[in-house]
Amino acid sequence: MIVRLLLLFWLGAAIGSFGHALSWRLRHSYSLVKGRSMCERCQHQLGAIDLVPIISWLLLRGRCRYCRGAIALRHPVVEAGVGVLAVLSYLSYHWLAR
Ligand SMILES: [Zn+2]
Repeated sequence: MIVRLLLLFWLGAAIGSFGHALSWRLRHSYSLVKGRSMCERCQHQLGAIDLVPIISWLLLRGRCRYCRGAIALRHPVVEAGVGVLAVLSYLSYHWLAR
């Protein structure tokens, strides 16, 4: 059960990260299908290691790997929030289905 909940949390966090990136791209008139994720400050393309939800922010201590500029706390907060919502939706469905 705990492994399932952790996987659901991670899946929710990944969806939250993707949705957050989409909303940023829409607000800044970037293409939704072209281009890779980049630092908001120095525009450096981010590698896969920089894009792991929550973990990357924690490992980089909230700073860009390339320019050392601050990465907003909203990134891991949104990711964790959607992860928690995914777990809660699973648990509520599980409980309601009894
Ligand atoms: Zn940067």
